Amino acid sequence: MEKIRLGISTCLLGESVRYDGGHKLDRFLRDTLGRYVEYLPVCPEVECGLGIPRESMHLEGDPGAPRLITTRTKRDFTDRMVAWSSQRVKELESENLCGFIFKSNSPSSGMERVRVFDPKRMPHKTGVGIFAGIFMKHFPLLPVEEEGRLNDPALRENFIERIFVFKRWREMPGQGLKSSRLIEFHSRHKLLIMSHSTKHTRGMGKVVARAKEMPSEELFSNYGSMLMEALRLRATVKKNTNVLQHIMGYFKRMLTSAEKLELLEVIGHYHEGHLPLIVPVTLLKHYVRKYDQPYLKGQFYLDPHPVELQLRNHV
Ligand code: SF4
Repeated sequence: MEKIRLGISTCLLGESVRYDGGHKLDRFLRDTLGRYVEYLPVCPEVECGLGIPRESMHLEGDPGAPRLITTRTKRDFTDRMVAWSSQRVKELESENLCGFIFKSNSPSSGMERVRVFDPKRMPHKTGVGIFAGIFMKHFPLLPVEEEGRLNDPALRENFIERIFVFKRWREMPGQGLKSSRLIEFHSRHKLLIMSHSTKHTRGMGKVVARAKEMPSEELFSNYGSMLMEALRLRATVKKNTNVLQHIMGYFKRMLTSAEKLELLEVIGHYHEGHLPLIVPVTLLKHYVRKYDQPYLKGQFYLDPHPVELQLRNHV
């Protein structure tokens, strides 16, 4: 499988591009996730022509439209950063990115809650880095996250799951925009989508049912927006339990009483927070193989990302 291409704030890879000549290496991103993705590093401040080291900057002024200002000499780099970012996002269109990981709290790269200083020099955590804001507006469907938030196991799993789905989704138009491909895609992702939102699963099912009647561009655009919107919603323990029970329904007549009991017990322990999701999923996968369930064999819910990343191993 071709590697997933991800944009990333350059300093997170250990490159010394920060204003003070330092970096913000994130070992999980570089060493662990880096085995499965190909990074495209972007440092807005260096790439727009500011040197290393350089004076530090922050956002200040109107929280709705803050300016990018150097902290000591008060030079305003907003226009330069906006012009550079607007051009850079156009160049990034051809890079086939499946997501972006931003450096938190940066006035250029921060995705959310970046400090904006009001005229009384009081900070408000309401800002978005200038480049990050322009990037997210330009690529509204692309999965984005910050390195700090990726320390949360649930957010980490959600983001990595999204980039894998996005890659498969992005490869669809290359297949000639055929509605049969969309039907197959939806069928294989159905349980995964259900673990985020049953409402979206129903809505997307209706779109797919009308696949042959809709112009293909409209069909793929509607479906793609709903897909990424659904996956942004958290897959909670309750929602996962619902999906696990749903999967169990496929084996009802095949499982022995002892197998049924064991499966119910394991799902129950997961539901109560005593076992990680990987345990009931592994048991279900065993039954999928044992009873040769073709529909479930193709479900990405059972294999959404490489098991080595251990994303479902937390309670
Ligand atoms: S936070 Fe963004 S602008 Fe600052 S050093 Fe890192 S990549 Fe460059």
